[in-house]
Amino acid sequence: MKKRYYLDHNATTPVRPEVIEAMLPYMNEKYGNASSVHWFGQEAKNALELSREKIATLIGADSEEIFFTGCGTESDNIALAGYLSTVHENKNGLVTTSIEHSAILKTAAKLEKDGIPISYMGVDKQCLVDLDALGDAVGSDIALVSIMHANNETGVLQPVKEVAKIAHEAGALFHTDAIQSVGKIHINVREMDIDMLSMSAHKINALKGVGALYIKKGINIVPLTYGGAHERGIRPGTENIAGIVGFAKALELQVKEREETTKKLSELRNRLEKRIEEKIPSLLFNGRDTERLPGTSNISFPDVDGEALLFSMDIEGIAISTGSACSSGEVEPSHVLIAMGIPPNVAQSSIRFSIGWGNTDEDIDHVINVLPSIVERLRKISGGI
Ligand code: PLP
Repeated sequence: MKKRYYLDHNATTPVRPEVIEAMLPYMNEKYGNASSVHWFGQEAKNALELSREKIATLIGADSEEIFFTGCGTESDNIALAGYLSTVHENKNGLVTTSIEHSAILKTAAKLEKDGIPISYMGVDKQCLVDLDALGDAVGSDIALVSIMHANNETGVLQPVKEVAKIAHEAGALFHTDAIQSVGKIHINVREMDIDMLSMSAHKINALKGVGALYIKKGINIVPLTYGGAHERGIRPGTENIAGIVGFAKALELQVKEREETTKKLSELRNRLEKRIEEKIPSLLFNGRDTERLPGTSNISFPDVDGEALLFSMDIEGIAISTGSACSSGEVEPSHVLIAMGIPPNVAQSSIRFSIGWGNTDEDIDHVINVLPSIVERLRKISGGI
């Protein structure tokens, strides 16, 4: 069988064996419904609450501030729509950024349709939000500021502590989509003064379809779906106990191993970038000159079609991604790169490597061996460099 090289960990990750081991009993003998009063139910409830406590402790929260959801997208929806529908009309605005994930952008678009005033902050060429401009945008009419912690395409980290201060000075709450950063970057919601924070299990070597939302005590949220009293009514629906147990285990492993993982991923990523730079002329490393996730690298190869590059790499067994979106049959360049001021044709030539758990030097060597000739071939086809 052809050897495959997975370098797309910001899309999703493999489930670690320790996580599978932690989950298995909750699929076999411990299959109770956490809402049942009998022994099976109480066993499941116990696992649910221990997982809640574990996740809370790992991000500096209290367990009653953690609400399990069906995914990161749902956490973002609940934070934005669930909070903004509780506020008063003359203070109901949202400030977010133009580089958010579609889970935020599409929710914001829906809220705007419903009459909520929304401002989108731009970013500079390093993918960073300008804090002075943010201060000007967060007026007394703003109820919520939602700015992501780590960008999924560039890995760039926003200064969330400073953002929280600006939001609070204007009397607004601060939500952050930390789906790409949780476990990978130190997070303490108290130290960082965060009011709501979205998480997703499948980005940290646990299951897809499991998320969580931290909501600081005292914040009122209206549910978006209705049903039972699960998750105190904020997210009704029988909890995925196995998935939640796995999520807590994965986060525990991430935090425990963070120092060594950061070192390993940074070394792999830096070597990848250095060798690519040595072997391929005329490149752009997007977001390289600021703080970013250790395993993420976003590179533009002018005069190369990003989609063609993605397919050529796939033929060589390498899984990466472009930030392009497909809309009405057309491939649109990444909205994140466009927001960074990268011209559309250069943005179209960009790919993201996201290195993660399990990647080795051999994976990087394979990329370095095959990428230069692919880029050269595609540049010849395009009549470029
Ligand atoms: N927000 C960010 C920054 C993401 O990277 C993702 C996943 O790609 C999401 C939200 C959505 O998370 P989920 O896939 O769990 O719905």
